[in-house]
Amino acid sequence: MKFNFNFYIAMNNAVFSFQMPNNEPVKTYLKGSPERVELEATLKKMRSEQIEIPIIIGGKEIKTGNIGKVVMPSDHNHVLATYHKVSEKEVKMAIDAAMEAKKLWENVPYVERISITLRIAELIATKYRAVINASTMLGQSKNIFQSEIDAACELIDFLRFNAHFATQIYGDQPNSMNSHNNRLEYRPLEGFVFAVSPFNFTSIAGNLNLAPAVMGNTTIWKPATTAILSNYYLMKVFKEAGLPDGVINFIPGQGSLIGKNILASKDLAGIHFTGSNVTFNTLWKGVGDNLDKYVSYPKLVGETGGKDFIFAHNSAYPQELATAMVAGSFEFQGQKCSAASRAYVPKSLWGDVKNRIFALMDQIKMGQPYEFDVFVNAVIDEASFDNIKSYIDFAKESKEAEIVRGGVCDKSKGYFIEPTIIVTTNPKFKSMEEEIFGPVLTVYVYEDTKYEETLELCNTTSPYGLTGAIWSNDKYATLKAFDMLRYAAGNFYINDKPTGAMVGLQPFGGSRASGTNDKAGSYLNLIRWTSPRTIKETYVAATDILYGYMKEK
Ligand code: NAD
Repeated sequence: MKFNFNFYIAMNNAVFSFQMPNNEPVKTYLKGSPERVELEATLKKMRSEQIEIPIIIGGKEIKTGNIGKVVMPSDHNHVLATYHKVSEKEVKMAIDAAMEAKKLWENVPYVERISITLRIAELIATKYRAVINASTMLGQSKNIFQSEIDAACELIDFLRFNAHFATQIYGDQPNSMNSHNNRLEYRPLEGFVFAVSPFNFTSIAGNLNLAPAVMGNTTIWKPATTAILSNYYLMKVFKEAGLPDGVINFIPGQGSLIGKNILASKDLAGIHFTGSNVTFNTLWKGVGDNLDKYVSYPKLVGETGGKDFIFAHNSAYPQELATAMVAGSFEFQGQKCSAASRAYVPKSLWGDVKNRIFALMDQIKMGQPYEFDVFVNAVIDEASFDNIKSYIDFAKESKEAEIVRGGVCDKSKGYFIEPTIIVTTNPKFKSMEEEIFGPVLTVYVYEDTKYEETLELCNTTSPYGLTGAIWSNDKYATLKAFDMLRYAAGNFYINDKPTGAMVGLQPFGGSRASGTNDKAGSYLNLIRWTSPRTIKETYVAATDILYGYMKEK
């Protein structure tokens, strides 16, 4: 059907603004609560079925017959779904669909685009909360709390705060004068956005698409194969909320095949990526190789890995520090880009802190995501399991390290790795430097007198700069760390764990090898998805080319 959008735009004779919202409250899921009852029923249903996930291009479901399996990481013989993988042909179809949908979508008034995203938020907050949580729990191996704060609350927050930030951007206009009027038109990018999402956060997957979409762009979405179940349900919610066909095109499949074909398109206008820095570097290089082809310079936004630290001064309170080290390192099996994975603890505190850590770890139960007393679940897949285990094995063999807790790995049923603490005498030990992305914390115990020297080590040991925390009750020591670690973390915590950033409260992202630091969940991210046009309209135009002084005798 053809629409006349000039008429539509003319109707939009009002400036709409959306106030800063409150964060979505986290539900408790206590026994007998309505949310617990609904969630348990949904988990049961999802565990008893095996759904078929199609490719979705231009709103049409496509089945190629090239099938992959979605299994539970905590029980890898349990198949939750099968999914169809794209070939080159479907990637090209997705590019065409995104470009076709753009013609209408970019002309839809922003208040209408926002109303669709707010409707998505409301559907996830209500009708689909259990579905999005259950699919994230089973498919990505999260316990209910980890799923609730991600797949439900954070995604809802992204959408509601984006509404506010979008109107804040649109309202930012230049000055005008009596003689002329100036304005900025916030155009979407000229082309499509390639959204590439990681396995670990359902909310990020949603936002990688919906942030560009609310600013009038269309996207092609490459989901992580290990997050396809929850991601597919998101597509269903988008459809129910009235997101027009082709605005988001869902193309599961092999990353390298998809990446190669997308990057070769002249219409690639942006990449919105979250994942490892190895993959982001591949995409960035691919863009460089194709630079001569593009209509515009593609905007590259990537949030990548981390080697996040907890740094304790000897004035830190041991119980608080120990709690932060356990929660910050082991929640969601350490598979958060922000998870603490190296700690610097002064010798005078370590004995006491270690005992407290062990006491806390005694309470950790490992098991299935649908068991409600479980703290730690399986890691995402076999490749990840093998990689994490290789660091544990390396420590076991090394004379510079000792595994003081955990270290048991078992993939017979699910990909289970015990929360593990390594203590090393070498501050540059492999597991102090490299991202492991699992439940492994390496501790370096330093001499109390070497506080500044050790801060310098912390600053220079890893190439990343995502999150970090200083634990201190001595203001001068805190300020010293604040100063010396200025570029070591894009999200810097004082007396808190380095995880758990919330939209609207702690805009998230880091620099160095951790990404472009465009702060997901803030106007800084949304602004990357516009290409402003400046318009100057003159009321009475000049009729003379000479300046006054030229006419003086
Ligand atoms: P990954 O890099 O392995 O995969 C990310 C996505 O890229 C997946 O969808 C994958 O299929 C796709 N991909 C891989 N090769 C590709 C190619 N050549 N072309 C196109 N797409 C390709 O990351 P992951 O294992 O899914 O996620 C874990 C990583 O994500 C960790 O490094 C973690 O630190 C990072 N992460 C960062 C943040 C942040 O905000 N900084 C948030 C979450 C996760």
